[in-house]
Amino acid sequence: MADGAMAAINSNFLKLKAGYLFPEIARRVKAYGEAHPDLAARIIRCGIGDVTEPLPPAVVKAMHEGVDEMASRESFKGYGPEQGYEFLRQAIVDNQFANLGITADEVFISDGSKCDTGNILDIFGQGNTIAITDPVYPVYVDTNVMAGNTGDADEKGAYAGLLYLECNAANGFVADVPTQKADIIYLCFPNNPTGAVATRDQLESWVKYAKQNDSIILFDAAYEAFIQDPAIPRSIFEIDGARDCAIEFRSFSKNGGFTGVRCAYVVIPKSVTGKASDGSRVPLHQLWSRRHSTKFNGASYPVQKAAAAVFSEDGKKQVAALIEHYMGNAKLLREAASAAGLPVFGGVNAPYVWVGCPKGLSSWDMFDKMLNEAQVVITPGSGFGSAGEGYFRISAFNSRANVEEVCRRLKSLVA
Ligand SMILES: *Cc1c(COP(=O)(O)O)cnc(C)c1O
Repeated sequence: MADGAMAAINSNFLKLKAGYLFPEIARRVKAYGEAHPDLAARIIRCGIGDVTEPLPPAVVKAMHEGVDEMASRESFKGYGPEQGYEFLRQAIVDNQFANLGITADEVFISDGSKCDTGNILDIFGQGNTIAITDPVYPVYVDTNVMAGNTGDADEKGAYAGLLYLECNAANGFVADVPTQKADIIYLCFPNNPTGAVATRDQLESWVKYAKQNDSIILFDAAYEAFIQDPAIPRSIFEIDGARDCAIEFRSFSKNGGFTGVRCAYVVIPKSVTGKASDGSRVPLHQLWSRRHSTKFNGASYPVQKAAAAVFSEDGKKQVAALIEHYMGNAKLLREAASAAGLPVFGGVNAPYVWVGCPKGLSSWDMFDKMLNEAQVVITPGSGFGSAGEGYFRISAFNSRANVEEVCRRLKSLVA
């Protein structure tokens, strides 16, 4: 068979840098454990952004009930609506978007925000200028590489064609609106990895920019539930005009502890439009609806029942207690890092504490120091983009006992 007859691949995948960050962390932790078997049991992981506490009891109860319904002929359910059950979409609107003008048919239930933030590129064409913050949640970057929206990466890992918005201590890790035009902008608040939040003024300037430039804001609000300050907007739709230029992604992963259960949603107001090749405006809602019903068959019924229980009276109290637990951890970690003399960001309205490395140490130097001298696993900031160099992320997703121990070790390590 001639070479020409072979199935051609999507060569954009070959531009991707090998999934470096978490595999490299795992490699170093494993090597350390093997070299120091006596200390391996002391290792505490504050690296990966996964929840640690079990599901709220109200969620467990609802999921059990959902399974029981599936077990009898009378209440069994087969395929559900692709967009999600009305009971869940309505509960989301009533509890998360009350008075923001969002309707239940603008909510699309899915099995995760990671998939949603990646899949959304299906409805956008080629040739868009994509703006991405640095540091960033790597999914936004890699999915754009796969979709062919970038060129190759340079030696620092920056892809040609992307518009990088640097976040640093000077701008409080909230990107300023660029002077160039971007067609699609990814914003994540509260932020992973920096824990930064955007004020109302800052979000207003982004919405103004998007309206002036006819761009679309992809707003990832996965950590909305961790906001403590009532002045910080929880949704981009709290900003006037956002209904014309923004899509919001939310997930039950971090508030409800659904990382292993899987349930999330996208909010696409019907008034958000993009341009067709003939110049006409087409509602993105219509495209996503078509995409979702073609490529997705709905999240599982017991899972959607469980997600709706997050908004029950008991569920709300239990989720609030979970958030309080994690934010209590964040406070302790902030204080310990501060007491160790390190510059501390985030951790006030987000479950991530973003810490400057001691003078002269790179992100990976600090990773090694924490592992070797304190047996604590953190995430090197440079793994989220070159602007993250010189920082590390400590996750507040942990037990209180582990956090208290990490705080003790952190203080004695740097002091
Ligand atoms: C954890 C996280 C999500 C949620 O992802 P799921 O696929 O819903 O679990 C989304 N965005 C960011 C930035 C996250 O850190």
